[in-house]
Amino acid sequence: MSTSEVYIEKGEKNLLHTYNRFPIVLDHGKGVFLYDADGKEYLDFSAGIAVFALGYGNEVYNDALKRQIDKLIHTSNLYYNAPAVIAAGELCRISGMDRVFFTNSGTEAIEGAIKSALKYAFTKKPADDYEIIAMENSFHGRSMGALSVTGNAHYREAFGTGIGHIKFAEFNNLDSVKNAITDKTCAVITETLQGEGGIYPADEGFLKGLRELCSERDILLILDEIQCGMGRTGYMFAFEEYGIKPDIMTAAKALGCGFPVGAFLMTERVAEKSLKPGDHGSTYGGNPLAGAAVMAVLDEYEEKDIAGHVRELTPCLSEKLESIKSEFDIVTAHRGKGFMQGLEFSVPVGDIIRNCQKEGLLLISAGANIIRFVPPLVIEKEHIDRMYEILTKVLQDR
Ligand SMILES: *Cc1c(COP(=O)(O)O)cnc(C)c1O
Repeated sequence: MSTSEVYIEKGEKNLLHTYNRFPIVLDHGKGVFLYDADGKEYLDFSAGIAVFALGYGNEVYNDALKRQIDKLIHTSNLYYNAPAVIAAGELCRISGMDRVFFTNSGTEAIEGAIKSALKYAFTKKPADDYEIIAMENSFHGRSMGALSVTGNAHYREAFGTGIGHIKFAEFNNLDSVKNAITDKTCAVITETLQGEGGIYPADEGFLKGLRELCSERDILLILDEIQCGMGRTGYMFAFEEYGIKPDIMTAAKALGCGFPVGAFLMTERVAEKSLKPGDHGSTYGGNPLAGAAVMAVLDEYEEKDIAGHVRELTPCLSEKLESIKSEFDIVTAHRGKGFMQGLEFSVPVGDIIRNCQKEGLLLISAGANIIRFVPPLVIEKEHIDRMYEILTKVLQDR
C-alpha cells in the first residue's frame, strides 16, 4: 500500500462520511503546487476552494503566524488585542465599510449578517416576523441560518423549515425580487458572483437595481463576498466593479488564506441600529492569531498588488477557457470574472476532474456539470498554459 492508501483507509473508518473525497492525501505545498503523501506534484487550480490566494509557503504570511504563535494565540473578546484592532481598521479601509465583527468561518459571517439585519429592523420597529429575500441557486453555508438562505432545496430538504420568513427570488431578475418584497422585508442577501451555484456573475442592471430598490425602502442589501471577494475578480471586493456598496457584507475564504477566519461588516448607519453588547459573540472570533493572519494577508495583497495581478492575467485565463469552449462540443458555456471562472459541460465533470488529477492538475466542480477555476491568485501565465495543456489532453483522450 502507498502512504496515501494507508491514510485513506484509516480516514474512511473514523471521519464522518459527509464528503466523497478524492483519493488524494495532500501533504505539503510550495507556491501554486501541492504534493501528496507519496510525493506526486499537482498544479493547484482550486486553492482549497478559493482560499489560499497567496500560494503555499508564503514567507511573510508564515512568519507572521509563527511570530504571533510565540507571542499570544488567544485572549477572548473580553479584552482588546492589537492584531484584531489593526486588521479591523485595514479591512474597513479597503471595503468602505465602517465596522467589522470577526468570525471563524464564512457560515458564521452569514449568521452574523442575518442577525444584524434582523436587529436593525427590530430597532426601528419591534416585530418577530421580518422577512429576508435570498436568491435561488445561492450558497451561503451549512448552519441552520445560513442554510435557510441557501437557494438549493437539495441542501435543505432533510433539515426542517429553517429559520423561517425567508423568500427566494430569481438571481439576475429584478422583477422577481420586487415581487417578493413586502412591508416585512428587512434585507436582501445575494452573492455578488454566485460560486457553488455554478459561477454566475450578477448583471450590472440587477445589482444596481437591487441597490436602488433597497435604498428606496430602507431594506438592507447584504452582499456575500466570501468566495468572490478578496481580489478574486480583480477587485478587492467584487461589488467595487459595479460602483455600488452594500449595507452589510461578508468575507471569509481568502481573508485568512488558510487560517480559519471570516467577517461580517456594516456601515455606521446600520451599526447604530444593529447589534449591541449582548446581542452577539464568539469565543475565538478575532483572536490575536486570526488578526495576525488577516494583517499578513492584507499586507501581502497591497505589497504584491494581488488584485492588479489578477486583472492583468484575467485575459490570459479567459482566452484559454474560451478556446477550450470552441475546441470541444461538450463545453456549452464559459462564465465568470477574474480568477473565478467556470466552464459548463453537457456531461457530468467528475471523470474529467479525476483524469486531470492523474495528470497532476487539481480542479473543482461547482454543481455536477461545471468545472470551476479558482486558482491561487499568484499564478503566472506559465501555470495557466500548463492547466490548458493538461485539460485539453484529458478532453482529447475522452
Ligand atoms: C464557502 C462559502 C460560504 C461558507 O463559508 P464556510 O467558511 O465554508 O463556512 C458562504 N458563502 C459563500 C458564497 C461561500 O462560497
